[in-house]
Amino acid sequence: MAESRTARSPDETATPPAARGRRLPSRDDATPMMAQYLEAKYAYPDYLLFFRMGDFYELFFDDAVRAAEILDIALTTRGQHQGRDVPMAGVPVHAVDGYLARLIRAGQKVAICEQVEDPAEARKRGAKALVRREVVRLVTPGTVSEEALLEPKRANHLAALADAAGGWALAWCDMSTGEWRSLETGPGDVLHDIARLDIGELLVHPRLVADLDLAALRARVPAVETGRDDLFDSTAAGRRLADFFGVRELSVFGAFTRAEVAALGAVFAYLEETQRGALAHLRPPRREDRSDLVAIDQATRRSLELTRTASGERRGSLLSVIDRTLTGPGGRLLAARLAAPSRRKAEIDRRLDAVAFFVADDLLRARLRGALRQVPDLERALGRLALSRGGPRDLAAVRDALAAAAAIHEMLSAAEASHAGLPVLIAEAMAALPRAGALAGRLKAALVADPPTLAREGGFIAKGYHPPLDEWRTIKDESRRLIAALEARLKEETGIAALKVRYNQVLGYHVDVPAGRADRLMRPPHDARFIHRQTLAGSVRFTTAELAELAQKIQEADGRCLELEQELFAELVAAVIAEREALAAIAGAIAECDVATALAERAAEGGWVRPHITEDLRFRLRAARHPVVEAALARRGEGPFVPNDCLLDEDERIWLVTGPNMAGKSTFLRQCAIAAILAQSGGFVPAAEAEIGIVDRIFSRVGASDDLAEGRSTFMVEMLEAATILNQAGARSLVILDELGRGTATFDGLSLAWATLEYLHDVSGARVLFATHYHELAALERRLKRMRLKTMAVREWEHELVFLHELKDGAADRSYGIQVARLAGVPQAVIARANEILARLEASRGDLVEQLLEGDLPLFATIRPGAQGLPAGPAAQTGTVADPPARALAEALVALDLDGLTPRAALELLYDWRAKLEKARAGAGEEER
Ligand code: ATP
Repeated sequence: MAESRTARSPDETATPPAARGRRLPSRDDATPMMAQYLEAKYAYPDYLLFFRMGDFYELFFDDAVRAAEILDIALTTRGQHQGRDVPMAGVPVHAVDGYLARLIRAGQKVAICEQVEDPAEARKRGAKALVRREVVRLVTPGTVSEEALLEPKRANHLAALADAAGGWALAWCDMSTGEWRSLETGPGDVLHDIARLDIGELLVHPRLVADLDLAALRARVPAVETGRDDLFDSTAAGRRLADFFGVRELSVFGAFTRAEVAALGAVFAYLEETQRGALAHLRPPRREDRSDLVAIDQATRRSLELTRTASGERRGSLLSVIDRTLTGPGGRLLAARLAAPSRRKAEIDRRLDAVAFFVADDLLRARLRGALRQVPDLERALGRLALSRGGPRDLAAVRDALAAAAAIHEMLSAAEASHAGLPVLIAEAMAALPRAGALAGRLKAALVADPPTLAREGGFIAKGYHPPLDEWRTIKDESRRLIAALEARLKEETGIAALKVRYNQVLGYHVDVPAGRADRLMRPPHDARFIHRQTLAGSVRFTTAELAELAQKIQEADGRCLELEQELFAELVAAVIAEREALAAIAGAIAECDVATALAERAAEGGWVRPHITEDLRFRLRAARHPVVEAALARRGEGPFVPNDCLLDEDERIWLVTGPNMAGKSTFLRQCAIAAILAQSGGFVPAAEAEIGIVDRIFSRVGASDDLAEGRSTFMVEMLEAATILNQAGARSLVILDELGRGTATFDGLSLAWATLEYLHDVSGARVLFATHYHELAALERRLKRMRLKTMAVREWEHELVFLHELKDGAADRSYGIQVARLAGVPQAVIARANEILARLEASRGDLVEQLLEGDLPLFATIRPGAQGLPAGPAAQTGTVADPPARALAEALVALDLDGLTPRAALELLYDWRAKLEKARAGAGEEER
């Protein structure tokens, strides 16, 4: 096991396969410096090479061009290579983090090549000898763990997509916390899965590229690597991972599929390559089961703006208005829960119990939040320490987190006593908190209150922790004191009041005497103690044996102090890593407490209620609000927000919502979807009462949106999304459809909307909120027994529209589109003419609808859900009964053994059925006549 954790030597990674096909400058005729540069560049061809030269990191050739463009820095040249100017760009060392962050965000990978010896050392080998340089760190978008390169409340994952044994799988790892997981996926799911996770870098098996929409992937993930088939090897990966974790089989952690093992293995191999073996904090991988989570596709995620707005920002998203977490791990946990709500009643109730507990006890909540406010990001500090990138400040973060954990534990145990018990989730969290007590004591004793970021500067070990260190520090202080005393004595003895003992880099400690007074120290009979060192314009400098001896002591003490501190630092880091499992559990427990109290805080602020979670098909919200719109209204000093009810159940599955533009239809639809998501992620909801029959999938298509970047027109996007919904929604799904068919000609749109509604009603059986401007659809109420009509109330007052934002029974008789156009300032002449045209159009439309309703029943009333890949739904039992011949035909179709049928037999059957149908229809026609 120990062996598998060691780093690969740089030689092994000297020519990673990604180098293939990349054009690098030739190494012929290079100057010595350029030869050294190219050696490093050849070893890391697909990284931007930051080449340390004094106070700058320099980039050359194509790297310089690319970096200059991304970073907007000057592109210059430096010397020539093979007769051409060498492009160069550079960034100052002290500001490197900011530049790295920008490059990482742009999906670039960076190799940092440092000077690894003192220039003085190099000079010993000859006046022109080059300073030795080595690549010491690889920074890639998916593996960064530095605080400066990460957002505190946003996770950053390295992911891999693999296939094996006929299945696909995705694995992802958060390098800053060591947490990683895998999930079975497929061509249809993978983009949606990726949309849920914050992925910085994705490794895709080259074989899968043909089946993927790479442009869509690249729009979501900063760096996508498709050229590394060497990383994927499911046979070897299982063994290596099992060895790494010291278990016999990887299956002890879960029933991973071959594809999952291949994906996990690729993540692992890439981490080994980039982290040079420092993987001590990786936790055992966990399997995620799709059937545990609410399926939310990309379009739905975008339209509901769950964790980010349509423009990609966190501000203005649902997450941003509910997030009251106080710690990084809590913030990340809440974001993950909101992005993937649960389908399991037991799990949801566990979370809700915890929130309810803290809603009920304001005082306890306030106290806990007081303590949580002090907790540093334990997960990430631990990650950095394990990756050998940590410093004394990370040790202090562990210390402070442990102190806070103890305080939180104390509060919770007091609460346990006074409330006669705790909710399960919190009781479990509490049990993890008091661990690592010895480490807490040790760190507390070892560290000063506010240690520096870097260990190499020293000065972070507290007084009294390590007696030898204290001794050396005393010697240092004492010597400094003795030097002060010596200065006083020399002044007195020489009678030169301006005499000073000074220190500089070149001479070290020395006696400095103004030029005019130095004579008597130099001319015989001079004071033999003073040894001349340097004469400057204004002063003369000396040393004395006593001073040299004290200086020597100080220097030695300094060196010893630093050395001892480095040793102690390494010991403390080792002690922290030895407790990493306990610490990870504590971090997890703190995150749970943070999320539960934060959701409780938000609920208390907004008067939100606990949703009643059931396993039936009811979906009831009384006086529900849209948290984001409500907050926006409040911010603008508008409002109040008008709450509305939503009551869907077994017998009332579709609400058709009509009403003019701007009346609040979209807002209402979304607030219902949001309530389901909030509830099933384990939070309270903005309503007076809520009852949620668990939802398995949420689909939301709100408004028409272009996806021109991907070459799809507005209407194509709309239909793609509609197709997804019609193909996938089942009885447990919640479907939000807003203005379906808006993107095409009126009659096309109306027809599609009409047919879609019928299909959702008869076949899918889903719970549906359907907002539309086609008020003709209201006529369908006569046929669709489980559909109800709702409308957004408006009042016309002196020819002006007043929006009441109130949902009531019934349908709007018209769209008021022209009134809204007038409100928006469309010229009066256009408005008048539009009114004229409208009047004539409407006169002819009513008849049409009547004709439609009198026609045949829709064909899909005969489709049996579950057959032909259609979703199963209760429509099967309650669907409209079609004419008997059609039903007989449908039954025969379902009973068929399709796999055992030859193409010829199939064709014959088709002819036969059509003939029967035609005959039956002809017969029916005769009867009617
Ligand atoms: P369109 O058909 O043009 O898309 P719409 O009927 O879907 O319009 P919304 O976009 O939902 O209307 O709402 C328009 C605006 O009305 C919102 O931005 C919000 O400011 C306000 N609004 C919506 N619902 C409410 C409500 N329940 N209470 C108060 N104000 C609301």
